[in-house]
Amino acid sequence: MEPERPPLRLIALGTDPHRQGCAYWLELGSHRLLLDCGLPGPVLWKALPGIPDAVICSHAHFDHLQGLPAFHRRYPQVPLYATPVTAHLATGLWERGIWPGYDREVRFPPFRALPFGQAWEILPHLMLTFFSAGHLPGAAATLLQNTQTSPAQTCVYSGDCSLSSTRFAPGLDLTALRHWQPDVLLIEASLGSTRYPARRHLENRLVERLLAALEADQTVLFPLPVLGLGQELLFLLKAHHRFTQSPKDLRIWVAPGLAAGCDLYERLLPQMPEGVQNFATYQPLFWESRLQPQVQPLTQADPLPQGLLLCDADAGPESWQPIWSRLLAQPQRSCLLVQLPEVELATPLEGWPALLRSRLQVESMVWHSHNDVGHLTQIIHTFRPQHLVLIHASARQTQDLADLPELCNRYHVHCPQPGHELEFPNERLQTSSRGAHPAMGGAAVEIADAAVRYEGEVEEVWQDQATSRSVVGVQVRLPAQLTEDPRWLAWADTGLVEARWQGSELVLRGLSPRELIRPADPTASHPSRFPQAPTAAQSGRKCQSCYFARQILTSQAQAFRCDQERSPLYRLRVDPQGSCPYHQPRELRSSG
Ligand SMILES: [Zn+2]
Ligand SMILES: [Zn+2]
Repeated sequence: MEPERPPLRLIALGTDPHRQGCAYWLELGSHRLLLDCGLPGPVLWKALPGIPDAVICSHAHFDHLQGLPAFHRRYPQVPLYATPVTAHLATGLWERGIWPGYDREVRFPPFRALPFGQAWEILPHLMLTFFSAGHLPGAAATLLQNTQTSPAQTCVYSGDCSLSSTRFAPGLDLTALRHWQPDVLLIEASLGSTRYPARRHLENRLVERLLAALEADQTVLFPLPVLGLGQELLFLLKAHHRFTQSPKDLRIWVAPGLAAGCDLYERLLPQMPEGVQNFATYQPLFWESRLQPQVQPLTQADPLPQGLLLCDADAGPESWQPIWSRLLAQPQRSCLLVQLPEVELATPLEGWPALLRSRLQVESMVWHSHNDVGHLTQIIHTFRPQHLVLIHASARQTQDLADLPELCNRYHVHCPQPGHELEFPNERLQTSSRGAHPAMGGAAVEIADAAVRYEGEVEEVWQDQATSRSVVGVQVRLPAQLTEDPRWLAWADTGLVEARWQGSELVLRGLSPRELIRPADPTASHPSRFPQAPTAAQSGRKCQSCYFARQILTSQAQAFRCDQERSPLYRLRVDPQGSCPYHQPRELRSSG
């Protein structure tokens, strides 16, 4: 008999990076954790349901850690965890005064810095592993395992992540993650259900547009966060032939917050990818006064800057003032403001001088450091979580994603809003055996990947004996399209499959290690889950009235799909008039 699994509880304290900032309260067994601390102090005190045992910081963007100094002042005993690079970047920004609500009297809280790829027991029976999440240098996705239970209760928090590598951070490495199958996956969904062209393509478009504006003598304002896309853009433009070989004198000015970010990046050079280190052996990483394009920090003493201005998106009006007044001094000059989907102005356009706004050309362009829907679903299918929690986006964006058939048909999807509490029931977690998630079984392949459905031949295997020939078995050769899928590894975990008839269909299913030690007869196993132990022979137990039959709207009509993981029909369409030994009446379930 397994020990009782403690609950897994999640409260979203803040989920929208552009509104409140991000923070999540997680109870894993007896441990209480705060995942990120992106809410400003006053909002945080209202939202926190208690004092956490530890705080885990995913990366050094303000929407994830702006509340940390205030938190540490109030609860100095609570340890704060981050990667060494995140600790370097966050501490460095604070020391340079680049922080919302900076207070020079306060020292930045000390981090306990843990490197990527190693499991640490940060609390008794609670293991933490960071692994590189792309997005920003030092950005971590976090694996948390409560080892009091067997198998360990597991939660993965993506932080902000990107499957594509950026110049300064390698993307999320899926091969390292595919065995985890967490009970709960909290994953950021910043870009919603939009699909974007490849990053390189977007970059080329961006470079062309910037160049055209500069050659037309426009002043280009490009607001960016102090860390991340700004440094990425500088590196891109400094290495791009359209910029290095332009016959025109191209100048790039960098606002103070971004310039501090560049400075912090330079100190990380020994830990940067090889390409960056090679580049830096020939020329400065960011600043350049001789070659094209010239890159320099923007100071108050500079004359009217002309060219490309990388501005601090997080800056308040007082930091914008000197830029506004210099632009207003040259009314005939045309100005372009470039906006990216993930960048929000802390000083919104409505607060800009009306005179400047009236001659500002605002243009939205696409370039990002997150996952579009294609990469997002690829990551989710690699993790194969029991519960999928979509965060770090607006309510509309997460709902659009949650409605995608390829997610809602495979996972229990949740889109919590601030203040919402999710409790993941014990029962669900109990059925989550490592390597046995049915989402990777033949059933899921049939529903979601119709394109790689196998329609080949089966081969009878004959045995020749002196007197007769007889069939001793049948071989099915599955094509590489199926067996090279990451799900195959887990599907074929034990090397054993179960084949059984369902009506006129033969269902093939991989057996998990857990099932091998469990009685095959469903009515004999876990009797407490099925108090009435129904038999197939009982009448009036149609799928139509079953708790596990989920009604799903298809393009043609309403369909029923089975949501009972033990059933061989799990995630397949079922006949509403059909019945099975796993039937559970709806009333029985909802009253319990
Ligand atoms: Zn971020
Ligand atoms: Zn973020």
